[in-house]
Amino acid sequence: MTRFIFITGGVASSLGKGIASASLGALLQARGFTVRLRKLDPYLNVDPGTMSPYQHGEVYVTDDGAETDLDLGHYERFTGVAARQSDSTTTGRIYSQVIARERKGDYLGATIQVIPHVTDAIKEFITAETGDTDFVLCEIGGTVGDIEGLPFLEAIRQLGNELGQQRALFVHLTLVPYIASSGELKTKPTQHSVKELQSVGIQPDILLCRCDREIPAESRRKIALFCNLRPSAVIQALDVDSIYQVPQSYHEQGFDDEVMRHFAIEARPPDLSRWAGIMQRVRQPEGEVAVAIVGKYTNLRDAYKSLGEALAHGGIANNMRVRLDWLDSEIFEQPDAVHHLEGVHGILVPGGFGERGTEGKIAAARFAREHKVPYFGICFGMQMAVIEAARNLVGLDGAGSSEFGPCKHPVVGLLTEWTRGNTVERRGIGDNLGGTMRLGAYPCDLAAGSMVRDIYGGAARISERHRHRYEVNITYKQRLEHAGLRFSGMSPDGELPEIVEMPGHPWFVGVQFHPELKSKPFDPHPLFASFIKAAVTQSRLV
Ligand code: GLN
Repeated sequence: MTRFIFITGGVASSLGKGIASASLGALLQARGFTVRLRKLDPYLNVDPGTMSPYQHGEVYVTDDGAETDLDLGHYERFTGVAARQSDSTTTGRIYSQVIARERKGDYLGATIQVIPHVTDAIKEFITAETGDTDFVLCEIGGTVGDIEGLPFLEAIRQLGNELGQQRALFVHLTLVPYIASSGELKTKPTQHSVKELQSVGIQPDILLCRCDREIPAESRRKIALFCNLRPSAVIQALDVDSIYQVPQSYHEQGFDDEVMRHFAIEARPPDLSRWAGIMQRVRQPEGEVAVAIVGKYTNLRDAYKSLGEALAHGGIANNMRVRLDWLDSEIFEQPDAVHHLEGVHGILVPGGFGERGTEGKIAAARFAREHKVPYFGICFGMQMAVIEAARNLVGLDGAGSSEFGPCKHPVVGLLTEWTRGNTVERRGIGDNLGGTMRLGAYPCDLAAGSMVRDIYGGAARISERHRHRYEVNITYKQRLEHAGLRFSGMSPDGELPEIVEMPGHPWFVGVQFHPELKSKPFDPHPLFASFIKAAVTQSRLV
């Protein structure tokens, strides 16, 4: 029997609903249950694929090629359960489905309305493909009171009724702010937020109250009284110094006990040793290394969420703290700006789109190559490293990417045809931009004797997730290899360069995929573990 837990948020956005959902998932797993986590986003985009990182933060890509909200990354990192397209939806996607059905004539004769047609489609999404999973956790994006969120709240209200208390639980995350001038924690915003939820017919079963200090028992009783809950269902979600502390912290506050009590389940206490082990390494590293991230959206950390986490995991694997220096690539377009890179132990150029700042990324790759500083180029970062090598090692003046318009030597060019399983995907200039990149998991063959083959533990074939429209142009392969760049990872048909490395350099790797999407704190990605290891070696040299 699958049980459903619905997570809503109130008072303010950015309270960490995604981490809260992921942590509850981890706690349920630690008690021996199976979980799936799902996200419903109320915006009208079909997916976040075409949104600017400034609007939305990172786009998280699943194995099956869905472009999803970054919270799905938290879910995977905390539970290890691979997210799928069927775990992520938006108002835009739901409406597209309903309208497509209407056009087909599936509702022949009916007037199509938000209730029941849209709410039915939402309920279908929530309850689809649950198999024999013990718990499905559904996070509703946005904040209670948003107009866009109403159909989602109505749908989960209906589901709550249909499933009954034995199979449905409502968790509401709020904020209990501290007002310095009066020296008090304020419960009123929480009361208002719960009222808002009750006005659409949802009575929360558990309140998670974010706060920066202990909430006195008396205030918790007050919240319980005004919000129609038992006091034990008011859980404080205290600020912690690492997100990987959250599962333990919630457990100490009785969150998972309260969930078990609601469903009347007698379960064994959770085994939290995995999280204790991670926290021990996070808290007591043997030292620190500095990695420079040279990118375009460096003032918005959410744009590189998985990347920051994967680097931290690389640190966990090496018992090191990783200090991240976020550098805007445009500063490297000034003369002599490379001094920003002196003293760092590794340089990473992450994924990106568009021409702005690219000369700076190319300059950073050149600095790393010439000064033998560990270099990790991810997707765009690989393409920039190849352009750098083409210009300065092969001597191709005017080498560039056709992403920025026509150039003399398009060493990176538009992908127009590739295979996915048994099908051929084709793209052309002027195609729709939404959902048309090379997306999701693809296999890659690693060359015998290469550094990456070693890093992946000798594996001959790996699978990694992609999100790109351009690709290193294979017609330049020979010239680049001759100049010292090794193409050590290729698509199985030998058509698409997936990994380049530089023999003779301590650690210089460019990958066309996004390894950061698959890294976990309890299972750091081998490329990140190896990159940080190289940074540790570098730190002993400088
Ligand atoms: N803009 C490049 C492309 O589309 C790189 C994409 C990325 O870094 N994810 O190929």
